[in-house]
Amino acid sequence: AYNFNAGPSALPLPVLQKAQQDMIDYKGTGMSIMEMSHRSSTFEEVLNGAKEDLRSLMNIPDTHEVVFLQGGASLQFSMIPMNFLGTNQIGAYVLTGSWSEKALKEAQKLGQTTVIGSSKENNYRSIPTQNELHLPQQDVAYVHITSNNTIYGTQWHHFPSFGETDLIADMSSDILCRNIDVSKFSLIYAGAQKNLGPSGVTVAIVKKDLLSRIPAGLSTILNYETHVKNNSLYHTPPTFSIYMLSLVLEWVKEQGGLDAIEKQNEKKASMLYECMDMYGDFYTPHADKDSRSLMNVTFTLPDKDRTTSFLQLAEEKGFVGLSGHRSVGGCRASIYNAVPIETCEALVSFMEAFYKEQ
Ligand code: PLP
Repeated sequence: AYNFNAGPSALPLPVLQKAQQDMIDYKGTGMSIMEMSHRSSTFEEVLNGAKEDLRSLMNIPDTHEVVFLQGGASLQFSMIPMNFLGTNQIGAYVLTGSWSEKALKEAQKLGQTTVIGSSKENNYRSIPTQNELHLPQQDVAYVHITSNNTIYGTQWHHFPSFGETDLIADMSSDILCRNIDVSKFSLIYAGAQKNLGPSGVTVAIVKKDLLSRIPAGLSTILNYETHVKNNSLYHTPPTFSIYMLSLVLEWVKEQGGLDAIEKQNEKKASMLYECMDMYGDFYTPHADKDSRSLMNVTFTLPDKDRTTSFLQLAEEKGFVGLSGHRSVGGCRASIYNAVPIETCEALVSFMEAFYKEQ
């Protein structure tokens, strides 16, 4: 299948093949990794290996800890204010799509919040610029952004900076798609099911300084420090998802790390955007040019009938997951790291042929 699913999404073929080999007998243990104790040295090796690989791929400084959590990125929407939004503080949110709205909604239930920037009025076609974002006079606990907007197909290309104020980013749909400077963020989190592996594990990269702000009395499981102190083994972790994450990270290293991955992603995305720009009277990208995502390419066709026949014909030809989210309509091609360049080439050829038939 030409898999363009938005998430869970395609995994690299060599990762699936390796997992298949290991399924019955992991490294001569006579068991699969799913059947082993999470306290076994074999599993701990997998977990520590994944942590180390993530650290080296993203160049994570010693000032930050890496933890593997459950509850998806959605639980982070609540854990962030529970841990870091003090009683007399305010959480500042930038709204760039549905996921940032959801993050804000959870924070509003737990403390004071403010919206310091939003592109809602243009149906989230763009990312605000630094000049458009102003912190309020109050004690700001953190600024929260969504680095890539899965539904609208927009992405931050220049991260904002607010001096000493902690920057938190939901990177669920673009973590590992490019090089970023982790030291600029106090917390990065991502559900795994796009660029990191199957669903079930959530990665959080948290600055150690932040941990001292966690209020006493917070439920143990919802406290980041619990997971830091216990090397993500406070309770039974999603062992299979962490194992799959370790394979994906090895695959990323084999591709040449994030420099190579970034180049490949730029190539894939520009192929699709160039096609749309070429047939601009027919395929209209949802995102403004300077906010276009490398990961989710969203576009509309001139009318409902042609969208329906495009999607129907695409499905017949083996293209999966091209239907756009209902809030944007049209189509969305999610081209995460595991989507091969050939899959993007096939889509471009299909789009050209469909256009010419009209
Ligand atoms: N944030 C972003 C940017 C997403 O794309 C998604 C899911 O697709 C989520 C959050 C929610 O993640 P989860 O399903 O892991 O809670």
